[in-house]
Amino acid sequence: MASAATLTDMRLPLSSAKMLRNLSTKFSSSCSLIPIPLYSTSTLHFSRRFHSFSWRRFTARAAADGGIENGAWGDIQHFDFDLFTIGAGSGGVRASRFAAGYGASVAICELPFATVSSEKTGGVGGTCVLRGCVPKKLLVYSSKFSHEFEESHGFGWNYETEPKHDWGTLMANKNAELQRLMGIYKNILKNAGVTLIEGRGKVVGPHTVDVDGKRYNAKHILISVGGRPSIPDIPGKEFAIDSDAALDLPSMPDKIAIVGGGYIALEFAGIFNGLRSDVHVFIRQKKVLRGFDEEIRDFVSEQMSLRGIEFHTGESPQAILKSADGLLSLKTDKGTVGGFSHIMFATGRRPKTMNLGLEDVGVKLDKNGAILVDEFSQTSVPSIWAVGDVTNRINLTPVALMEGGAFAKTVFGNEPTKPDYRAVPSAVFSQPPISQVGLTEEQAIQEYGEVDVFTANFRPLKATLSGLPDRVFMKIIVCACSKKVLGVHMCGEDSPELIQGIAIAVKAGLTKEDFDATVGIHPTSAEEFVTMRTPIRKIRKAQQPLEDDKAWHLKPAVEA
Ligand SMILES: Cc1cc2nc3c(=O)[nH]c(=O)nc-3n(C[C@H](O)[C@H](O)[C@H](O)COP(=O)(O)OP(=O)(O)OC[C@H]3O[C@@H](n4cnc5c(N)ncnc54)[C@H](O)[C@@H]3O)c2cc1C
Repeated sequence: MASAATLTDMRLPLSSAKMLRNLSTKFSSSCSLIPIPLYSTSTLHFSRRFHSFSWRRFTARAAADGGIENGAWGDIQHFDFDLFTIGAGSGGVRASRFAAGYGASVAICELPFATVSSEKTGGVGGTCVLRGCVPKKLLVYSSKFSHEFEESHGFGWNYETEPKHDWGTLMANKNAELQRLMGIYKNILKNAGVTLIEGRGKVVGPHTVDVDGKRYNAKHILISVGGRPSIPDIPGKEFAIDSDAALDLPSMPDKIAIVGGGYIALEFAGIFNGLRSDVHVFIRQKKVLRGFDEEIRDFVSEQMSLRGIEFHTGESPQAILKSADGLLSLKTDKGTVGGFSHIMFATGRRPKTMNLGLEDVGVKLDKNGAILVDEFSQTSVPSIWAVGDVTNRINLTPVALMEGGAFAKTVFGNEPTKPDYRAVPSAVFSQPPISQVGLTEEQAIQEYGEVDVFTANFRPLKATLSGLPDRVFMKIIVCACSKKVLGVHMCGEDSPELIQGIAIAVKAGLTKEDFDATVGIHPTSAEEFVTMRTPIRKIRKAQQPLEDDKAWHLKPAVEA
């Protein structure tokens, strides 16, 4: 039987098949073989392919499928469902809905709702909707007003009194919106014909899931349980909050320490700073946002410092102390800073695979508990699949959606489909925000050797009257040989909205000439992307192979 990969090649139009082959070919500095700029397939650490899954049309019941092949389904003669999904977050809902759309009978289980997630609580919609992208962005919107109030004076606005923020109103409105979204997600599942079961799912066999004592058999099981924040095991850690709690605090922090230099740490620093807390960020490294473009890392910390956030770099937290007045101190290897009403840890997330029964049925995990999958999201047990953050590939909502969709197409749509990780754009909703697509300058040099770098660092029009020290930084990285745009980075107002459009051009493999031939929209910051004519740097050196310990660099940083 042909492997799934072979079938994929056969089904693709010739040009796409060629492109895939190009991607898997080690790049030579010759211009004849230029892959599209990537978060390349080579940048993601897939496990080896465990086995070729047998390729055939799924059928609704084992009996109708011609029975059990070589006893592969054990004693099970009848499946309750074609697919049983554990976890109704971004990946699980997308996969279940699409599978049902292909005609599969599908059930999905999800933990009961609570604002803070735990072993026993979650909620339909998952992290993105309830404890991630959506509530975070709502808080970002709320916090941005204070900067806009400051900007407005130069434009002639005066207020008798300073506007006051009411945290309670924000939380109530945010929570009402989350309930509304949860309702929408439940309806999406219902309308797709997916059976929703409330409870904690656990795998008890290659085809069997236990939900709070009740067992269900399914031809395929999909694990999409996501991850949870992890706080290092230091004395006083019980006084710390994580991002779940930070999104639903009973009152606004007066003074907050945020430990971590990843995107979640910076986003919360911006939120609380905008809402007028005294914000201190503690990072172990010298710079924030490991894995991002070096110039962007410097630029964003400078801009955030100008807005009043204090960065404590090169400091490792060692303990949290609580004084009699209830205030907290953070002890690091360099000293102790006190007076905090809150200390938040944004020091990474762990896949939620504890007590899920996976190892008992033979599903292989990596050392951090992430499920190892092949390029089709299949685990080491052929009937069990996994998508989203639990596989720790690129931990972003649109990626979990893509993986869920590709899984459904592969297993139920009669079309083996690998998620495509090339040129995945991403954003950090810090203030100012960052957005990027493609390679950083450092990655481009490593992969292509010879690159031209174009940058713009300017005062946006709005700052001329606001009088604030806001600036914008933009960068385009171009392959010196093919002239293809390898990476685009921006830190400045609206950068995520803008880079989404640029991502289409980068994914399509457009060249710097294509950018230059595009007419700008005036007056905008965005027009700089089509008017940068002279490279600030021309890097010409032999391509260096990647050292193993630098490979992490190619994966978008999620939360360091
Ligand atoms: C603070 C924060 C901000 C973020 N901001 C962004 C952003 O701006 N943009 C972006 O793209 N991504 C963002 N992310 C990441 C994004 O939320 C995740 O990548 C995405 O939600 C992953 O989807 P998933 O389906 O893999 O898992 P999840 O969405 O986490 O869903 C997993 C679901 O499984 C449930 N579950 C767990 N165990 C069980 C069990 N045993 N039985 C039943 N159900 C179970 C959970 O309750 C949960 O509902 C953010 C994350 C955080 C924490």
